[in-house]
Amino acid sequence: MSSTGHAGAYDEGVIKFNAAHDTRRLDTRVYGDLACKLVAWREIMAKTQLVGQDPGRYGGAGYGNVSGRVSAPAAGRGERSFLITGTQTGGTQCLSLDHFCVVSRYDYNKNSVVSQGPINPSSESMTHGAIYDLAPQIRFVLHAHTPLIWTRAKELRIPTTDPSVPYGTPEMAREMHRLFRTTTLPELRILSMGGHEDGIIVFGKTCEEAGQVMFTYLARAYETLCSSNGVGLCTRG
Ligand SMILES: [Zn+2]
Repeated sequence: MSSTGHAGAYDEGVIKFNAAHDTRRLDTRVYGDLACKLVAWREIMAKTQLVGQDPGRYGGAGYGNVSGRVSAPAAGRGERSFLITGTQTGGTQCLSLDHFCVVSRYDYNKNSVVSQGPINPSSESMTHGAIYDLAPQIRFVLHAHTPLIWTRAKELRIPTTDPSVPYGTPEMAREMHRLFRTTTLPELRILSMGGHEDGIIVFGKTCEEAGQVMFTYLARAYETLCSSNGVGLCTRG
């Protein structure tokens, strides 16, 4: 099966790559433990509205996705296969292995993704692949949409990609590599997608490491909001 999406008023949920997708189900014995780990952290993200679906945001498209690597650390760039939530699962409750697929190959220069599973890969699979290509020790990637952190990225000193670069493009992959080389991104493990409204990415050796970075920055964003309101989460009337 092959499909190519078209960019609309909102990018969210639009698949921009050519997908070679095999619809075979995933083996619970192989992927069950990893899927449950991702489901657990993604559930916390859903409860804090970092992942979801809202008629008032992004044209009603589902937003946010999570992934974890399945291949050996030695796998080369473009073939660091990973388990990732499927397309348009942002609003899905009661997530199961049926909402995941495995991306086994990705090539942002050719704009192609090879995947397997009962659901098509997230529209942001290419972005996840580009993060895994930064370093072999990166094994988990969480992508959230949060105006709370995104609008304060500069204040919170979060490395940010060029706002003129949209997600899912070879330029975005190059931007993330540039940040990894020239900023504190390798230590911070969080970046803001300047050209992708509210888009934040965290990564880590473990899902716990990535999750802790995300929620530490969410707390810092609330702290900043509280402070700027004269010590209060809501502006006083
Ligand atoms: Zn996104």
